[in-house]
Amino acid sequence: MIEHITDSAEIIRLLKDEKAEILYERADKLRKEYVGDEVHLRGLIEFSNICRNNCLYCGIRKDNPLLKRYRMTPEELIETARRAADIGFKTIVMQSGEDMWFSQKIMCDIITKIKKFDVAITLSIGERSYEDYKAFREAGADRYLMRIETTDQNLYHKLNPNMSWQHRHECLMMIKELGYELGSGIMVGLPEQTIESIADDLLYLQNIGIDMAGIGPFIPHAQTPLKNTSGGTLELALKTMAVMRIMLPDINIPATTAMESLHPEGRIYALQCGANVVMPNVTDSEFRRLYELYPGKTGIDDTPQQCHFHIGMKIANIGRTIGLSYGGHNGRLPQKPGI
Ligand code: SAH
Repeated sequence: MIEHITDSAEIIRLLKDEKAEILYERADKLRKEYVGDEVHLRGLIEFSNICRNNCLYCGIRKDNPLLKRYRMTPEELIETARRAADIGFKTIVMQSGEDMWFSQKIMCDIITKIKKFDVAITLSIGERSYEDYKAFREAGADRYLMRIETTDQNLYHKLNPNMSWQHRHECLMMIKELGYELGSGIMVGLPEQTIESIADDLLYLQNIGIDMAGIGPFIPHAQTPLKNTSGGTLELALKTMAVMRIMLPDINIPATTAMESLHPEGRIYALQCGANVVMPNVTDSEFRRLYELYPGKTGIDDTPQQCHFHIGMKIANIGRTIGLSYGGHNGRLPQKPGI
């Protein structure tokens, strides 16, 4: 039976008072029971660090003049996806800043071509129009990943100038309505964020019916206005992730890259505290080093093959296996619209 924790006080108690080890064990047991021992690998392509937004926490924010900007060409992006599919990735995640050069038509063309490699496609390109989301879905995108970041609307509006929490929420609703598998999530350790507010975030994610939850620590970036803040701890991120697993036992939960930036084994710990997905980076290192959302990104110079191999070894060492399917929520891909 799914244990539906829906009580804010209970979530706060787990986050504040429960011994971390007990929480991790409980989450790990549920992970095994509901989604098994397979770890699904997603090949992550960071294809542009150009962004129209100015999120105070983010290293690729528009007003960071120190960052060298890049934009992969559609051909480079498709070729990177082809190589990742050849290595064995069954999902390609395409992530970028909100770079509107990638118009509806250009994105649809890229999606159609990558879809031919027999992979599931996840997009993580931020807020777009309903028409864009619909066109991307019809072109073959299966999943969409967009974190709500925090449900504390005051905090959200302080951290994301000129953006609207309500609009981001509406985008998530459109994405869901269009039949994508919906991934969302939060950062923990944001300035002024409280445990009570993290509990609200988890309830929000549970209520909107996500298929995937990405939870990562906030890591201050030296070229942003939040450079002197303290950031989140690995322990709080792992505990929050474990509680998410307990609240939604059958969803996909990635061991996030930011966790690895705080500790070399961060992602392996996460796989033992409720996570069942890893997103190795398959972007060329020339671009990968420039996609610096936060400092401390690991494996900058590893080739996609090396990333795949290293993580594969680590996964085997903790007694888990690599999933060979698309690895969607409930083991399936969403049906095409209209079917
Ligand atoms: N433009 C896309 C992709 C954003 S980058 C979108 O809006 O969805 C992906 C995620 O990185 C963000 O959603 C945020 O949660 C995370 N991120 C950004 N800056 C970060 C930082 N300094 N520390 C940790 N995570 C960060």
